[in-house]
Amino acid sequence: MSDFRYCKLTREWTLFAPERLKRPSDLHNKKDVYLGEIIHEKCPFDMGKEEFTPNEITRISQDGKWQCRVVPNLYNALSIDVQSKSSRESFFETYSGFGAHEVVIETPNHEKQIWDFDYNDFLNYFTIIKERAVNLQKDDRFAYLSVFKNYGKDAGASMSHSHSQIMALPFLPKKIKEEIVYKKEYFNEHKRALMDDIVYEELNYQKNIISQNSEFVLFCPYASKFAFEAKIVSKKKLSSITEFSKTDLSALCDITKEFFSKFHKSLGEMSFNMIIKNAPYEEYNDKTKEYFRFYIEIKPRIYKQAGFELDSNMYINVMLPEDAAKIYKESK
Ligand SMILES: [Zn+2]
Repeated sequence: MSDFRYCKLTREWTLFAPERLKRPSDLHNKKDVYLGEIIHEKCPFDMGKEEFTPNEITRISQDGKWQCRVVPNLYNALSIDVQSKSSRESFFETYSGFGAHEVVIETPNHEKQIWDFDYNDFLNYFTIIKERAVNLQKDDRFAYLSVFKNYGKDAGASMSHSHSQIMALPFLPKKIKEEIVYKKEYFNEHKRALMDDIVYEELNYQKNIISQNSEFVLFCPYASKFAFEAKIVSKKKLSSITEFSKTDLSALCDITKEFFSKFHKSLGEMSFNMIIKNAPYEEYNDKTKEYFRFYIEIKPRIYKQAGFELDSNMYINVMLPEDAAKIYKESK
């Protein structure tokens, strides 16, 4: 039996069709091969290969050795060196490719993936992301900061060395703009943040909860688009990593570490996208934390999206979130 579930956050329907798991297939899984990295010796993210990356923006060191560093993306989609401006080309609209595009090299160790990280690795990671988010916010030409990690070829990664990316944009993408309007409307009507209500309901519903600590809750959302999708949401009124205290960062490290350990035990070296959601710069003020909640989403890329998704923007998910949460929960 299949059913549609409505996501109150995205206001979109997902079609849950577990039966489709049983489809026959004559396509065999090919092992992930990274195009950018045929020879390991050439990996520019390794310790000792710093000369192969553009000028370093920042680093965290321990005993004189870097543990985590940020560099401009060598193959940048956006550049900070061009003027930020929109223009017209007859009927068509264009905007200069102004923006920041940075790479967070999460570890000097080529072999270490996020599920191998210890507490300190996570602390370095989130600390350096916070530092970049704070610094880029000072430039008022930026309206939005996108922070994400792609792991595996099916998630769009071209390098296996553990890394994330940061993109700062001169305007808000349409999806984000609509999301902000909607969250503000919800707050005006209910005097509560939409995400806080979703967390409250998920905690009541129980079935999708994987774990929680004093500050964060980890769950598989009721209307997840992706099989085994998970969210880590702040229980406190935090709207951006820029507001995090040491205690907040520490609690985030604990729950993220716990999640990735479960992820690896449940799914192995599965491709995934991780998105770290902060309130947009353009909308940021002392009221933002009332309606916008900080969260992280992890979307495993087990199944491919195809024609139906492209046409309807409605996803077919073959894994019910309560079943995924149970599998995560039971993996120790
Ligand atoms: Zn490497």
